[in-house]
Formats: sequence, structure tokens, C-alpha cells
Amino acid sequence: MIITKSPAELETMREAGRITAAALRLVASAVRPGVTTGELDAIAEETIRAAGAAPAFKGYHGFPGTLCTSVDSQVVHGIPGSRALREGEILSVDCGAIVDGYYGDSAMTFPVGTVSQEARNLMDATRRSLEAGIARCVPGMRLHDISAAVQGVAEDAGFSVVREYVGHGIGRTMHEDPQVPNYGQAGTGPTLKPGMVLAIEPMINAGRSDVRSLDDGWTVVTADGSLSAHFEHTVAITESGPMVLTLE
Ligand code: MG
Ligand code: MG
Repeated sequence: MIITKSPAELETMREAGRITAAALRLVASAVRPGVTTGELDAIAEETIRAAGAAPAFKGYHGFPGTLCTSVDSQVVHGIPGSRALREGEILSVDCGAIVDGYYGDSAMTFPVGTVSQEARNLMDATRRSLEAGIARCVPGMRLHDISAAVQGVAEDAGFSVVREYVGHGIGRTMHEDPQVPNYGQAGTGPTLKPGMVLAIEPMINAGRSDVRSLDDGWTVVTADGSLSAHFEHTVAITESGPMVLTLE
């Protein structure tokens, strides 16, 4: 069942999104060669708690971090720690915050210093695929219009879409109905209605789409070792079109 949110609920989710975005901005400004993913995690947690919110991921099914930090061929759910970033890597950072029981969820991939042309192309295509998905968040469109838009941009750029992990509805829990795949047939799926809130999150690989999990039980990597990028926004569907909640 897809739970629609009232305007008052959207206001609270907007605040959760604003705090999530602020944490991501401060993390972005700290990304450089030599910084550890654990240091970035501490910045995010301090930012979220100072704003009176709570980290959404910390303790979620036992996850230890405020952020998921996923480097290069890591797709999602990397655990922050003592690993220092190196020049030329790309870092995907996923962040969430809770305000009065409502969730915000957003992710971005950052270059560490100067990165390869392939890495820049991958990050650009993944960001554009998210924007294409957001543009479909209009009442009367169908859910898989979003999916098809994301897939089209990613595959037109020569990249592949991860199948095993998808976006999701979001509200008083981080993961609600519906699932939001990053691939699919336009014109199918539930009809989008005002008050629906979706976390749209393309996970795009430079090589093949297959992924596997590491022995730590969390980190997901590309099966072929190719680079992966991840961008995410929490988006409300309103009468006047998409409203991105995870902006400052
Ligand atoms: Mg996320
Ligand atoms: Mg999400």
C-alpha cells in the first residue's frame, strides 16, 4: 500500500531533507585525498545531531554508520572507517536523517581529487538519470515512467543499471511501498498521485550490471570490478509537479 502524506507531513519531511542535504554538503567539502571515511561519517553525524535530528542509518538493521561510504567498485552500503581516500577515486555517500519520526534520504558521488574521464562520465550520467526520473514525478504519470527515464539516460550513456537494489517509498519508515526500480517499461505501474513521496536512487555501473556482497554483510560491489555511481533524492509528488525534499 502506498501511503500518501499530508501537506503538514511534507513540511516535516522537507526539514528532514534539508538537514540531510546540509550534512551531505559539509561531507562534500571535506572530501579530499587522505581523509578517512570515518572522519566524513563523524562530520555527518555532528551536523545531523546539531540540527536536532537523528541519523537514519545508524543502527538500522545494525548498520554502524551515519553514512554509507562506497568507493570505486563499491555500489552501496559501504561501512565508514579507517580507510583513507586516494587521489583519483570516486566516493558514493548515502545519508539520511529523521525529524519527528519522518525520514529524509539522499546520496551523491564525489570525485577525490582528479578522476578519470570514465569516472566523470559515469557520475554525470547517473546524476542526469536521477534528474530525468525526478521530472516524471507528476500526478497522472506511472511509476515505471520514472524507472524507464532513469534507465534510458544511463544506457544511452553506455552504462548499466543495477537490478538488485531499487528506490523506495519513504515517510515514517525509511523503506515503504512502492519499490522504485531504475529500469522498467514506461506506461506501467501505479499511477502517481499528490502526496506520494519516493526516494529515487539510480545505482549505475560503468561495466556490467551484476553485483555481489562482501563478507562484511553490507558492502555491495560490482561483480566485474567496474566503477559504480549513486545519486538519490527524496521527492514528493504534488499538484504542481515534483518537489525535491532533500535540498537545503
Ligand atoms: Mg539512501
Ligand atoms: Mg534510499
